[in-house]
Amino acid sequence: MIQIQIPEKVNIIIRTLAAAGYEAYAVGGCVRDAVLGREPADWDITTSASPMEVKALFKKTIDTGLQHGTVTILLGNEGFEVTTYRVDGEYEDFRHPREVRFTKSLLEDLKRRDFTINAMAYSQEEGLVDEFDGMGDLKRGIIRCVGDAQERFKEDALRMLRAIRFSAQLGFVLDEGTRAAIRKLCGNLKKVSAERIQAELVKLLTSPHPERIREAWETGITGVILPEFDVCMACMQRNPHHIYSVGEHTIHALEQIEADKILRLAILLHDFGKPEAKTTDSDGVDHFKRHPEVSERLAQGIMKRLRFDNETMRRVLRLVRYHDDHPAPKSASVRRAVNRIGEELFPSWMKIQRADILAQNPNMQEPKLLALEKVEELYGQIIREKDCVTLKQLAVSGRDLMAVGFPAGPKLGEILQYLLDLVLEEPERNEKGELIQAAVCRFGQEQEGKE
Ligand code: ATP
Ligand code: MG
Repeated sequence: MIQIQIPEKVNIIIRTLAAAGYEAYAVGGCVRDAVLGREPADWDITTSASPMEVKALFKKTIDTGLQHGTVTILLGNEGFEVTTYRVDGEYEDFRHPREVRFTKSLLEDLKRRDFTINAMAYSQEEGLVDEFDGMGDLKRGIIRCVGDAQERFKEDALRMLRAIRFSAQLGFVLDEGTRAAIRKLCGNLKKVSAERIQAELVKLLTSPHPERIREAWETGITGVILPEFDVCMACMQRNPHHIYSVGEHTIHALEQIEADKILRLAILLHDFGKPEAKTTDSDGVDHFKRHPEVSERLAQGIMKRLRFDNETMRRVLRLVRYHDDHPAPKSASVRRAVNRIGEELFPSWMKIQRADILAQNPNMQEPKLLALEKVEELYGQIIREKDCVTLKQLAVSGRDLMAVGFPAGPKLGEILQYLLDLVLEEPERNEKGELIQAAVCRFGQEQEGKE
C-alpha cells in the first residue's frame, strides 16, 4: 500500500470526521504533490459530511464557500478547506456549473475533477483511492483528462490552459487525446474570465518549464488568450544580432531568467512591440527602432485585459520600457540609469538584460555580456558608496531652498532636478552648503527680495 506523509492537523480533521461516521480524505493537488515528493501548497479535504455537519464538529470554522460546499477549518493559525463530495451539474457557457449537487459518493466527486493526477484521494486508514490510474500517469509523466477530454473541456474551458500549466510545473507531456481536444476546443477559452486565465498564465510562466508556452501556442491557446504572442512567433528577425523569431527569442529568454512573476512577465512582453516597429532596410536587414515604447503600450493593454493589479503592472511596464537601454559603462551613466529606471527595479533590470542577451545570436554575446558586467560592477560600487541616485537622497530639500529665499512653487522642483543632475554626475558634490551655492549661482534671480 502506498504511504503518504500527511500533516498531523490534516490527520486530525480526517479522524474527527471519520469518528463522527463520515468519510474524509485528502484530495487533489496535495495527494499528487505528496506522491511526487513536492511540498503541497495547501491540503484540501473532501468529505461525505455536509457543510453544516462539518461546522458542527469543529470549534473554529469560516464559511469560505458554503454554496460550493466549502468550509475552512482553523487549527491554530492554519486553515484547511474541507469540501463536501459534489458533482457539478450541467455547465453553462463553458465556465460555470449551473448548479452544484452534493453526493454521498467519493467516486462521483473524483469524476468531476480535471486530470487523472488530480483525481486521487488518500487517508491513512483507507489508503489511496485512485480510480482513473492517476498513479500510472504520474509515473509516466502524462497529463490526461478524467474521462472524455472533449466533454471535460466543454464543461470548463479553463482546464485546457490548466493542462499546459501542469505540464509546465511538473515537466509532463500531454496525453494525445487531451491535446487533440484542446486543438479542437481552445476557442471556448474566450468565454473564461480574465482573472482565472491570469492565475493559470502566471503559474505557467513561473514554472520550471516556461518554454511550455510553446505548447499553448501550438495547440491554439495563445491565439485565443494572447494573440499578440502568435504575432511574435510569426515575426522573423533578419538581423545579425538574432537567430530566432521574436517569439522564439522570447521563449529562450524566459528560460534564461529566474522563476519570478515580475521578471517572467516582463520578459514575456518585452518584445511584443517588435512586429509593429519592424522595418527592413535596402540590404534586407530588419530593424526594430523604438520597439520598447510600442511593447510598453501593448503590454499595458494586455495586462489591463488580463486584470493584473496596478503594482504588478507598474513594475512590469517599467522593465519593458527600459529593457533595451544601454548605459555607457561609466559611473555617472549608471547612476543616471538607476535614477531613470528606479533604485528598486534596477537589479531586476540587469537580470532582464542578461536574459535578453543570452537569447540572442551566441556569436555576438560576448561584448554585450562584458558591457553588462561592467554596469553590474559599477552598480555595486554605487550601492556600496551610497551615491545619491534619487531626490530623496539629495542633501538639499525644497524646504532648504525656501529657507534661503526661493519661493514655494513648481520652480523648486526644477531646481532640485538641476541639483540632482549635478550630483548624478559628481556624487561628491552631494553636500548641503555646496548645493545651495550651486542653486543660488544658477537660479539666484529667483530668490525673494532679489531683483
Ligand atoms: P496548485 O494548488 O498546486 O496550483 P492544485 O491541483 O491544487 O494545484 P487547485 O486549483 O488548487 O489545483 O485545485 C485543487 C483541485 O481541485 C485540483 O487538484 C482538482 O482536483 C480540482 N480542480 C481545480 N480546478 C478544477 C477545474 N477547473 N476543473 C476540474 N477540477 C478542478
Ligand atoms: Mg491547490
